[in-house]
Amino acid sequence: MLALRLWMTAFMAQRASSFAPHPSARVRNAAPAFKLPPLSLFGKKNDDPVVEFVEDPPPTEVYASRMSAADGADLSSSGVVDTDLTTEPSPSPSRPSFAEETDYDVIVVGGGCAGLGTALMLTKTFGLDDSRVLVVERGEKVGTSFRAWPEEMRFISPSFNQQGWTQSFDLNSICWGTSPASLLRAEHPSGEEYALYLEAIAEQSGLQVRAGTEVTDIEDAGEKKEGDRPPGPFRVNLKETSGSQAEATVSSRYIVWAAGEFQFPKDKRTMTYVYKEGEENTGKPKVRFNDMFPGAELCLHNSHVRSWAKLPGDDFLLIGGYESGVDAAYNLAKAGKTCRMVASTPTWCLQTGDPSSELAPYTAARLREVLAPDFSPRPKLFAPLEVVAVVEAKEGGYDVAARWKGAEPEFNDRGLGFKIEEAGNADSLVTLRTPEPPILCTGFEGSVVAQAADLFHFPTPDQEKKSCVGNGPLLTRDDESTRVPGVFLVGPSVTHGELSFCFVYKFRQRFAVVADAICQGLGMDTRAAVEECRRQDMYLDNFATCEDGCGDMC
Ligand SMILES: Cc1cc2nc3c(=O)[nH]c(=O)nc-3n(C[C@H](O)[C@H](O)[C@H](O)COP(=O)(O)OP(=O)(O)OC[C@H]3O[C@@H](n4cnc5c(N)ncnc54)[C@H](O)[C@@H]3O)c2cc1C
Repeated sequence: MLALRLWMTAFMAQRASSFAPHPSARVRNAAPAFKLPPLSLFGKKNDDPVVEFVEDPPPTEVYASRMSAADGADLSSSGVVDTDLTTEPSPSPSRPSFAEETDYDVIVVGGGCAGLGTALMLTKTFGLDDSRVLVVERGEKVGTSFRAWPEEMRFISPSFNQQGWTQSFDLNSICWGTSPASLLRAEHPSGEEYALYLEAIAEQSGLQVRAGTEVTDIEDAGEKKEGDRPPGPFRVNLKETSGSQAEATVSSRYIVWAAGEFQFPKDKRTMTYVYKEGEENTGKPKVRFNDMFPGAELCLHNSHVRSWAKLPGDDFLLIGGYESGVDAAYNLAKAGKTCRMVASTPTWCLQTGDPSSELAPYTAARLREVLAPDFSPRPKLFAPLEVVAVVEAKEGGYDVAARWKGAEPEFNDRGLGFKIEEAGNADSLVTLRTPEPPILCTGFEGSVVAQAADLFHFPTPDQEKKSCVGNGPLLTRDDESTRVPGVFLVGPSVTHGELSFCFVYKFRQRFAVVADAICQGLGMDTRAAVEECRRQDMYLDNFATCEDGCGDMC
């Protein structure tokens, strides 16, 4: 009930807003035909400081008070394992102060593809002045989460510069007029390469990015009544992530939450929502964290591996058989290492019609390559087999106990020829011994629940909506929080109904929807920019088109 009321309030207020610019908005004429100049990898670095840091920010009531990285296993001894995905190890140089601009129209939390894409949309397409938008990035550079990928990992969605010849453009591009394929000469970029693409955009577009800085709290400055447009201002507390760890407070009319979904490894616990039937949604996500399975703490999460080839050992057991499990199996096999993959679902047999919820063709092709009869060492696939416990074996190594599940009708190889090991009877147990810590390819918990749960309402089971990493928060049709008006969500945890905006080519189409709502709230005329975005295939407000998947036909 509460969620619905807030949705209506925000929606009605926004539609009622006039086109008189808010006094704080420095409005330029929207530049609908904006195109970045050709990107180069050797752009000049913009070191302009944008925030003055002080040592002691005043304590106040906070919306989001838990914005620190999730705890990670201490596995750093191998030398190829990185325990902290959220910060870079090297200390940052201290940043000079810049006291003039501590008030913004928009603060974007996170300098990954969603944060940068939205900031570009706001400034270059909708015409908000660059000085009014600040992107805050916890890592030392933009694209931090991509730099944490194992060396061998590649984008599964292909990059190709088809702009101009088709309705759309490079699937991995965050901004019309740019193409990772063209910049990097790579069809399936590595994480490091893609981070260079993001860096080139950030440096050459003139966006204000405050790197090496994390948003620690977002507070309501309490000057507006509910429903006022623009809402806020919010007071945003910032802290340097290295060096002096100085703190600062800035204010902003709007917040765009773009802190990503792939930084908090699911390695010790699983998360379930625990609303009881008929219970009112009070807004707080009621989640229960259960141990994943006994012994999960003995395992290594795949996101901690920097290189499969350099990982010590030559015989591995992988737990989880979706994209990251298959990626690990492929790269271990290519490095000449033996591996077994235990998967509760044979994902290579599933056809869902949604390209981001079935194994990507690129991944399937690589799996076929290492399963070919003449390939050695060929990975062994066990499915549908669910791990129930891991224990250290007395003789050394680890015993992985697992239970066979029954075959489901949708497990259909469709003649694609993925050779897997013979399955046991349903519910029978099997124990597999492995010399190295088993590797968890079990996915991630999202940043919204991990860091910003107080900014959003979460669905009850009857409203359940699956995002890539679990349940996405409730959003208005403009991707604004139903709980805190003025806070927007961009990136892979955006969901609408059954639709999950997991991949870059999906969630980039919502940047303009968010920019439109914000700029209208600031009193700008957005019509030309919206029209341009529609032409660029960058304004998705009609979800009927997404439901036309070809799963049943192809
Ligand atoms: C292994 C792997 C393979 C993938 N392959 C593909 C693919 O082929 N195609 C595809 O489209 N997608 C792919 N994805 C998904 C894609 O990486 C994500 O959808 C994308 O990174 C989401 O972008 P984002 O900007 O929301 O998050 P991120 O890119 O993770 O950016 C979030 C940023 O926020 C920063 N941050 C977090 N908290 C704070 C804070 N409190 N203050 C300041 N900064 C903060 C982080 O440091 C990070 O840089 C893949 C993901 C993984 C893990």
